[in-house]
Amino acid sequence: MTKRTVVLGGGLLGITTALYLAREGHAVTVVESESVASGASYANGGMLTPSMADPWNSPGVFKTLLTSLFDPHSAMKLRIKAIPSLSFWGLRFLRNSRYSQFEKSTLSNWALADLSMREMRALRDEIDLNYEQEFVGTMKVFRNQKGMDHALSVAGLLGEDRNTYSVLEPAGAVTLEPALADVVDQLVGAIAYPDDESGDAEKFCNCIADELLRLGADVQTGVTARDLVVRSGSVQGVVTSAGEIDADNVVVAMGPYSTKLLRRCGVRLSIKPVKGYSVTFDASGVSGAPRIPVVDDAMHAAVVPIGGRLRTVGTAEFTGYDDRLSPARVENLRKLLGYLYPSVESQVDTGAGTAWAGFRPMSSDGLPYIGATGVRNLYVNTGHGHLGWSMAAGSGRLLTDIITGSEPSIDPGPYEVHR
Ligand SMILES: Cc1cc2nc3c(=O)[nH]c(=O)nc-3n(C[C@H](O)[C@H](O)[C@H](O)COP(=O)(O)OP(=O)(O)OC[C@H]3O[C@@H](n4cnc5c(N)ncnc54)[C@H](O)[C@@H]3O)c2cc1C
Repeated sequence: MTKRTVVLGGGLLGITTALYLAREGHAVTVVESESVASGASYANGGMLTPSMADPWNSPGVFKTLLTSLFDPHSAMKLRIKAIPSLSFWGLRFLRNSRYSQFEKSTLSNWALADLSMREMRALRDEIDLNYEQEFVGTMKVFRNQKGMDHALSVAGLLGEDRNTYSVLEPAGAVTLEPALADVVDQLVGAIAYPDDESGDAEKFCNCIADELLRLGADVQTGVTARDLVVRSGSVQGVVTSAGEIDADNVVVAMGPYSTKLLRRCGVRLSIKPVKGYSVTFDASGVSGAPRIPVVDDAMHAAVVPIGGRLRTVGTAEFTGYDDRLSPARVENLRKLLGYLYPSVESQVDTGAGTAWAGFRPMSSDGLPYIGATGVRNLYVNTGHGHLGWSMAAGSGRLLTDIITGSEPSIDPGPYEVHR
């Protein structure tokens, strides 16, 4: 009998899960309160980076957060008013910054991101996907040795068999990305990751939504999930703003908004929203525009070419669900373009850049939640933090294997809800 599966959330994680389930013959309904990819998947950094699989709560994060309280320009910013809402999650986030957990989370995130890269290749072969994808790798540039040493330790932890990378002198970084020539004297070095990819996550989600429609799935936008129907320990449907939908399985993939809905039936996930920003500039006609996504390690931010646009992206604000755009944060990202590429910035109308902010669904141990819950037939796929684009296709595949009872191609243990 055909299984009726409702997927809540039309971001990267919901939409990829829906696709794999529809391909396995499930009758899929996606319920999305706004439009497809309107949350964190809308204008993110666009980079698929198994190379940067390390969680943000690395050893030393406590000091970074503490000093950020008094530094308005800090890349990772804790706001005093957000501290009470972080309570248990915050303590776990700090406790999980010990090296053993950092190592475990990095390796498990890498496994999922690696699976994603394989799944993305397969999807591109099977579906006509145009999401302004690029295969030029990524590069991290460093303005101090401490930052470079940390990135080298992560690269060393992943090892050469998992991660291809090359360590570059500043001149080598300019050879790879000539647009960096203006700042060569400010760099101590760079690391290039040739196997990373990039592309527009929102366009990808909409291509997948089209494919879902072609497969006969139902994609309901502008419909909000309000509650889960649970009887005798088993989920049987969803109460939405447009009525009740019966289901054999429900997948919750609503980013940070997943926690509230799940708590109502006793499922607790340790996830908080961490706000990030991007500003997207029209770069058509710019001469000498950058070609490769470059992460400026000292700024904890990146400049990413996406089609004819340049997107500056970064910052991590612990500020609850406050979705207002902080003018200081937006200004920092506008300035980043000139900080990294002065000659490019002089040709771009930076005032006309489109500013955006989204909530990364950040788990307190740096790993996503993928799998079954204590409620029968209720599953989750969320908590991917700053790596949701890098891990989306692999996560959708993994959860589908779990739901259909197929042998998963990676160990699902690290991502289990009860871990
Ligand atoms: C500034 C920034 C830059 C980033 N850069 C990168 C990057 O370069 N590489 C990378 O790998 N990752 C990056 N990320 C992380 C990545 O974007 C996220 O991890 C990913 O988008 C999360 O996807 P999601 O599907 O879990 O959540 P979302 O995209 O937020 O989707 C959840 C969806 O659920 C919907 N929803 C919420 N409540 C309800 C409800 N009650 N009923 C129905 N629907 C509901 C929302 O409208 C939303 O569309 C970045 C994130 C940010 C913010």
